[in-house]
Amino acid sequence: MDGSIPQMSRPITRLPETVANRIAAGEVVERPASAVKELVENALDAGATRIEIDIAEGGRGLIRVSDDGHGIAEGELALALARHATSKMDAGRLFEITSFGFRGEALPSIASVARLRLVSSTGADAAEIRAEGGRLGAPRPAARPRGTTVEVRDLFFATPARLKFLKSQRAETQAISETVKRLAMAAPQVAFRLSEMTEAPRVLFRAEAEPGGLAAGRLARADRVLGQAFRANAVAVEAEREGLRLMGHAGLPTASRGSASAQHFFVNGRPVRDKLLAGALRAAYRDLLPGDRHAAVALHLDCAPDRVDVNVHPAKAEVRFREPGIVRGLVISGITHALAGAGHRTATTLSTAALGRAAPAPPRPAALARGIAAQAPFPGLSEPAPQPFTPAPEAAPEPEPAADRPLGQAKAQLDGTFILAEAADALVIVDAHAAHERLVYERLKTEHAAGQVRSQALLIPAVVEVGDAAEALLAEAPALAALGLEIDPFGPGTLCVRAMPAVLGQADPAALVRDLADEIADQGTAEGLYRRIDRVLATIACHGSVRAGRRLTVPEMDALLRQMEAEPTSAQCNHGRPTSLRLGLAELAALFGR
Ligand code: ADP
Ligand code: MG
Repeated sequence: MDGSIPQMSRPITRLPETVANRIAAGEVVERPASAVKELVENALDAGATRIEIDIAEGGRGLIRVSDDGHGIAEGELALALARHATSKMDAGRLFEITSFGFRGEALPSIASVARLRLVSSTGADAAEIRAEGGRLGAPRPAARPRGTTVEVRDLFFATPARLKFLKSQRAETQAISETVKRLAMAAPQVAFRLSEMTEAPRVLFRAEAEPGGLAAGRLARADRVLGQAFRANAVAVEAEREGLRLMGHAGLPTASRGSASAQHFFVNGRPVRDKLLAGALRAAYRDLLPGDRHAAVALHLDCAPDRVDVNVHPAKAEVRFREPGIVRGLVISGITHALAGAGHRTATTLSTAALGRAAPAPPRPAALARGIAAQAPFPGLSEPAPQPFTPAPEAAPEPEPAADRPLGQAKAQLDGTFILAEAADALVIVDAHAAHERLVYERLKTEHAAGQVRSQALLIPAVVEVGDAAEALLAEAPALAALGLEIDPFGPGTLCVRAMPAVLGQADPAALVRDLADEIADQGTAEGLYRRIDRVLATIACHGSVRAGRRLTVPEMDALLRQMEAEPTSAQCNHGRPTSLRLGLAELAALFGR
């Protein structure tokens, strides 16, 4: 035995209340933003219609939350600061919680690590009580209208170890701001104001009460918090399954973000960070976004309170669903349907950004004439059109742009890459390479799901050197064969490709096999087979798509546009980039200063 551990047992004693509170504080108030969260939640639970939050020094110097809620009677002020004292729970109904708070831990925890002043009025009289490092003073009369103000100064002064973990003032202020915005999205009928109290106080966030019912209010508040651009680049989600309701907005894949910070989930009006919901979201976007991109969403899930347990963690940010499978299915199908309905919409911010960059340029008619492939066939067209889009007859009459053809009528190809098309009220520009890649991918996926990827034997098997990757590739040979790619061992570090997926046309076997080797090396073995197959399909699709620079005939271009219209996911390529942009007549007019 290690000599430093005392062998003799010591008597068991109950921890003093201040110590117990500080231990609890470690979980409940991790940083200033968590104190703000608890205080604002208390104000919401008190039925406030207006909540004002003042902070200083990233919340470390000051956090003051004032509300116009029902207040606390003078005789209960001390109790509000006592541990496990709450007015929000019917004993025995722990599984049907409808308030934010229920544990009676927040105020005593904060009071134990800071200097706290609680002033409250139920409408008649007002009183205040102070606490410092957990030691309570006596209640005293005060003056204020109905409502409550909690003022917290010198947070964590009583627990210096915790202070060391705080980030910069700016980072803590940012975290507070995000916390307030999330709660503001959860409670659209309440007015919020967050101010930073420096020499010149600054309003960081403000929202008036949103008019209308809950659904309209949530929408309006999401717009206020996330900006109009969010909704303009998102689709409405509305779904229900066995009494669970999902509503809100899911961002278009082309408006994805580099981090998950724009993902807002609410369960019964409570902002949550939940692994199950985040996982379902990832699954819903799996085919539409590369792994390092994140969809922006604001989604509310509502259900009977006994179907979700909010008492998982003291900070109440995690939840546990009674029926996780139903929730996951609801989120995935709700988002998938909403996005499929969006068809060809790509992010408007992209068009707008592109327009912004389109500064008036001096006319260059000669260069333009050279760059644009006119409607007549060009030399080099003898190259067979790659599958899967089949060229329409060359002599097809030119139909009018129809309303059911949102991508319009192909007119010309620019720089061997972009298709210019005329839609009913817009100029549409399509990235032919990206669009075709997407279509090949979808085709491969469908064929693969049906277990019938068509394979084409090579006339002369291709011998490819792949070095160390040979073994890993050969280990996947059966899976690759199911994808139409047949490989055999040929010698040390060398493979022989006997057949390729037919959809790829004349793609180079060596380039494909090397890319797949990289892909397999990247994935390791931890990932699920489904995801791996998807990535492999995407890699294969990339090789089969229209090479940038290849000239297309007008019927080929039209065929591509029609196939894109028929394929709901075609608005972005496999890397989440848009495949088409629309310039509406109004945008064009604006561009020319009309
Ligand atoms: P909980 O919110 O879990 O009940 P708290 O420690 O946060 O625990 O608050 C303790 C009690 O103090 C609450 O149950 C409530 O009765 C009262 N209280 C706290 N803040 C407010 C407020 N802003 N307005 C009215 N009552 C409040
Ligand atoms: Mg509380």
